[in-house]
Amino acid sequence: MAKLTVKDLKAHGKQVFVRVDYNVPLEEQNGVMVITDDTRIRATLPTLECLIKEGAKIILTAHLGRPKGKREATMSLAPVAVRLSELIGKKVVFVNDCIGEEVEKAVAAMSPGDVVLLENVRYYAEEEKNDPVFAEKLAKIAELYVNDAFGAAHRAHASTEGVARIVAARGGQCAAGLLMERELKFLGDELDKAERPFVVILGGAKVSDKITVIDRLLDKADTILIGGAMAYTFRLAQGYKTGKSLVETDKVDVAKGALDKAKAKGVKFLLPIDDIVATPVKTDKLDKKGKPVIEWQNPTENPQMDCADDVAGLDVGPKTVELFSSEIAKAKTILWNGPMGLFEDKRFAQGTFGVAKAVAEVTQKNGAKSIIGGGDSVKAINKSGLASQVTFMSTGGGASLEFLEGKVLPGVAALTDI
Ligand code: AMP
Repeated sequence: MAKLTVKDLKAHGKQVFVRVDYNVPLEEQNGVMVITDDTRIRATLPTLECLIKEGAKIILTAHLGRPKGKREATMSLAPVAVRLSELIGKKVVFVNDCIGEEVEKAVAAMSPGDVVLLENVRYYAEEEKNDPVFAEKLAKIAELYVNDAFGAAHRAHASTEGVARIVAARGGQCAAGLLMERELKFLGDELDKAERPFVVILGGAKVSDKITVIDRLLDKADTILIGGAMAYTFRLAQGYKTGKSLVETDKVDVAKGALDKAKAKGVKFLLPIDDIVATPVKTDKLDKKGKPVIEWQNPTENPQMDCADDVAGLDVGPKTVELFSSEIAKAKTILWNGPMGLFEDKRFAQGTFGVAKAVAEVTQKNGAKSIIGGGDSVKAINKSGLASQVTFMSTGGGASLEFLEGKVLPGVAALTDI
């Protein structure tokens, strides 16, 4: 599934519609929206530098937040234009809309190497519906198409899929940006022909979210290490007590199926052998969804596989970290998706940080390839301070998971094959 990349485009003087992921966190400070983390903007710089050098006319399109088809001032991309201009040391023209006359005027005034950023594409409800009329309006100024927004590639929206189809139908080329190219290389090619031993580490909340990935990786991996709340559904399947731990009782059969498949395939499938448990206490406070906030009291090491009735397992224990680390140390390829525990609370972060340390060590010392498959595991690696010591961290959450499941992502499928 090799795709054309931005390096292959003859883009000089051409109007290139570039879909980027500028869904950055913003915070209101003294009535002004301020970007609190510009990682996503920085991540697009290699693609932009490539196009600027080529002398393309770069028209950037992105979404920010969930404005649900309305103009929502707090979700404007205007602050991104200012930050991007600082980063590339060049003027970025911001257009207050993503379709229509204003866009056409701004594009008509462009010279080779100029950069224009259009307003939030999700101000139109038609974007998420992949409305063909809206896609035509977006594509009006597009001669070539580039997608560098891997994190949005699992959605067939107008700017991620519709515009690419229109450009292709007109005979224009559609290419992957350099960030997208790296995602496809590491989550795709590198895992398809993974050097062995191939160790997969899976954690996070639910078996149901990851079962398709588990099933697919059981065909490829030598070892699978399971942590996080999802381990308790497997423990239940093995007949252990899980106390108040987060379990999916309706997924016990699915867990049993995975355990049987691992046995049949000779895949080493390891579950935690100890954990950190705590007592849940309901508080008067409510979370964002209006549910009572649970306070976890009395964190304790539990050196066995059974969990007492009145406590929940919130992290893997030290013996598990040791066991998992010894498996990780043998790996030549590692894929990690999902934290080992409730790492947002530092009392339950040691399992995740311990595994992160082992992954960083085998990467640095043995030259293993370590691929961090997006979402919370990336947050956890960043928190552990080891981000620079792993091979690759995906920028996608849902997109990474769907790609690892083997699904065809509409935003990738729409790009030109080579
Ligand atoms: P996921 O999005 O499925 O990767 O799940 C990540 C979330 O699972 C994080 O917010 C973790 O805090 C949470 N999590 C991981 N392990 C546990 C656990 N043992 N109990 C409760 N939540 C957990």
